[in-house]
Amino acid sequence: MTQAEKPTQRPEHAKQVCNVCGKPSASTICDTCANRVRGEALERKKHEEKLNS
Ligand SMILES: [Zn+2]
Repeated sequence: MTQAEKPTQRPEHAKQVCNVCGKPSASTICDTCANRVRGEALERKKHEEKLNS
């Protein structure tokens, strides 16, 4: 049994991709999605603040 070794790490050829859109990215989330998420979070915050006031 020599071929049963299952690597727990990602294959080397698997580059890091954005967790949101799946495109190759330098980090877990690409700039595009980071900006979008940031904007959505901001809008949500504004909305909540409006509801609370
Ligand atoms: Zn992305």
